[in-house]
Amino acid sequence: MRDPEQPIALAAPATRQTLQARVTWGARTVTVGGDAPVRVQSMTNTDTVDVIATAIQVKELAQAGSEMVRITVNTPEAAQAVPEIRNQLDRMGIDVPLVGDFHYNGHRLLTEFPDCAQALSKYRINPGNVGKGDKHDRQFAQMIEAAMQWDKPVRIGVNWGSLDQELLARLMDENAQRKSPWQSRQVMYEALITSAIDSARHAESLGMAANQILLSCKVSGVQDLIAVYRELAQRCRYPLHLGLTEAGMGTKGTVASATALSILLQEGIGDTIRVSLTPQPGESRTQEVVIASEILQSLGLRIFVPSVTACPGCGRTTSTTFQELAKQIDDFLRAQMPVWRSRYPGVENLKLAVMGCIVNGPGESKHADIGISLPGTGEAPAAPVFIDGEKALTLRGENIAQEFHQIVENYIEKRFGSGQPNQHG
Ligand code: SF4
Repeated sequence: MRDPEQPIALAAPATRQTLQARVTWGARTVTVGGDAPVRVQSMTNTDTVDVIATAIQVKELAQAGSEMVRITVNTPEAAQAVPEIRNQLDRMGIDVPLVGDFHYNGHRLLTEFPDCAQALSKYRINPGNVGKGDKHDRQFAQMIEAAMQWDKPVRIGVNWGSLDQELLARLMDENAQRKSPWQSRQVMYEALITSAIDSARHAESLGMAANQILLSCKVSGVQDLIAVYRELAQRCRYPLHLGLTEAGMGTKGTVASATALSILLQEGIGDTIRVSLTPQPGESRTQEVVIASEILQSLGLRIFVPSVTACPGCGRTTSTTFQELAKQIDDFLRAQMPVWRSRYPGVENLKLAVMGCIVNGPGESKHADIGISLPGTGEAPAAPVFIDGEKALTLRGENIAQEFHQIVENYIEKRFGSGQPNQHG
């Protein structure tokens, strides 16, 4: 029987104790794990050899909120381009740490191109493709030695598409000897986790500090990711890079990533996230950063941008005015954030509401810092605006959108323009 005196429990993400890694460039340090907030990261899709195109995309990703940006380092030419990309970014005042993504030849590139090794802030090592047989350990050790020489953290990033086949074969053989063999999917989970953790222990045995190591075990199925990361989190205290690999395009990729990541983040699993979205033709690469940020903001783990509450609309409103206004305001706020972050400290806490009619419009608007309740079908053509919970004025006529826009800008300047974040909200 429920005790009527007991309130309903508040929901909040769990916390997981991990080590804390430091990813640095110049004066900028991004902490990952420990008590640091869950970090957003992303990856470019330009040819790294194209220095300008890559530097521009890194800048766009950083300005969208990516706290680390990974770039492919796959050839000697790409390795040579890395310090040039770093210089371009430094000249543009973009201090986001760069992460080098290495496969197959990372041991050679990091050894033969010391300027590249130095310009990167972190190395991603895939233990599934550092070499086969006796080359595996030797080449892995070369990469770890480079990381120690340059004092860089590493992510040991296992991916089921490039899983260590020798390890998988050994675990399959062992499984065949079991009285009750596991399903092959469970053996694959074990192989992913074993590959990551054994590689991390190997790195530690070579002298690398445990807090310089991050792990990931990426798969493309939501349930697989949840199973693997729950187990991985149980077995180690390394910070975890979380992401659904090859999530796909558009709505499918967005929903799959949000579903998988949210479940794990709510359990306290995941210290940095990446949304591996395939961009739709013409879509900006920054969309993956927007989605990653929205996942964290929706869960209440981080606040990046002012939030806009908008109703879905229904038969009570036949005009698209409120949809257009909500989108305009959302786009405007997001576009301004790179500048506003420093000009208006605390502006990310702002809450707006753009509502379609009188049913929930005034109520929702009063919960926001600024809200507007647009007229539904058959209502008088007037839009009450609420500021800090009070009805402040009513807009009428053709220019409601522009006037509301101006009200929002004035409010931001007044409340956040002093450089001192207001405690309201
Ligand atoms: S606020 Fe009005 S228009 Fe919007 S969903 Fe609710 S009833 Fe429909």
